[in-house]
Amino acid sequence: MNPYGFVRLGPAAQREAAIRHDRFNGLSGRLYCQLTALTHLFIPKTQETARGQHQKLDLLRTADGRPLLPGSSLKGVIRSVAEAISGSCLTLPLGKGGEIEYRGRPPVSYRIPRGFEHCRDADHLCPACRIFGSLSGGNPFLGKIGLGDAVAAGPFETETITIEALMEPKPRHRAWYEDPNQRGYLRGRKFYYHRPLGPRRTEVRNEYNKTIEAVKPSAVFEFDLVYNNLTKAELALLIFALTLEPEMAYKVGMGKPVGLGSARIEIVGWEQIDRQARYRQLGSGVTALKGDLLSAEIARWQEEYHRAYANWQDSLADLRRIWTWDPSSRTDIRYPGQEWFRQNPRVPIERTP
Ligand SMILES: [Zn+2]
Repeated sequence: MNPYGFVRLGPAAQREAAIRHDRFNGLSGRLYCQLTALTHLFIPKTQETARGQHQKLDLLRTADGRPLLPGSSLKGVIRSVAEAISGSCLTLPLGKGGEIEYRGRPPVSYRIPRGFEHCRDADHLCPACRIFGSLSGGNPFLGKIGLGDAVAAGPFETETITIEALMEPKPRHRAWYEDPNQRGYLRGRKFYYHRPLGPRRTEVRNEYNKTIEAVKPSAVFEFDLVYNNLTKAELALLIFALTLEPEMAYKVGMGKPVGLGSARIEIVGWEQIDRQARYRQLGSGVTALKGDLLSAEIARWQEEYHRAYANWQDSLADLRRIWTWDPSSRTDIRYPGQEWFRQNPRVPIERTP
């Protein structure tokens, strides 16, 4: 099976002004989260690599040797989910004619539907930009959440493996990327399937593939997420994007097309801060939720997501189909060979073997 699928855009979300930081009348708090690796997981540290040679990449670690997922990259992944299930903007640079261009020979471009252009003004932001920020344009907005690095807590193991090349069909394969119902338009947002069988390993070591040191499944990473001044709908979107549904799992880090990066995120603690109570000196204004109370609160906000974002059920259904984690699945994922592309230039992605 092909390594990725598309999530339909759905209708474009309404754009609104972000509530400013100087008015603390929204919802604020801190979420304590755990990310559990379901397959091997790999985040490379910044390192010199020589071109034209087989690369050996080291794992990113803290000063005391614990594997680490930078908060910035985690934020990017959570954001991509929130965008996909709320009709938020496409954070891709557009060409002069308002189309997305992929470099290559020849370059390939796709138009995007109205209302999905990247937000450029803090007074008109899509849901994801109001939560995660929008730095393009002349009126930037820093967003209303902060994520710390996710650091491996407790025991973990690593393994050095040589993975297959991450090559994708290039230039962006039109029969897959184009909306089958709207010629010339982008089909949606791309997400990678899970491969419960684990990474696609190989004995071959050449300039196209890599040898990496990956964290083995069942390692647990911990991180905090602080949010300030969110609206009800924004908090609902954030909670749903973080926790998803019980049968779904995330893809994070490097090597997604070859079976790495499946992970589950769980909220294990929640402090809700009532800034008004603090201001009026009515106690600390902090409510800490754990156990059953925490589960009930998460379920309540998940329901709120379905209410507030009912227009994006199709997008969620697509993401659910792509991100369902079935540990017993033996389905392989790989790009069809070059010969297949030569013989089937127009076969759409859903009929690709
Ligand atoms: Zn936006």
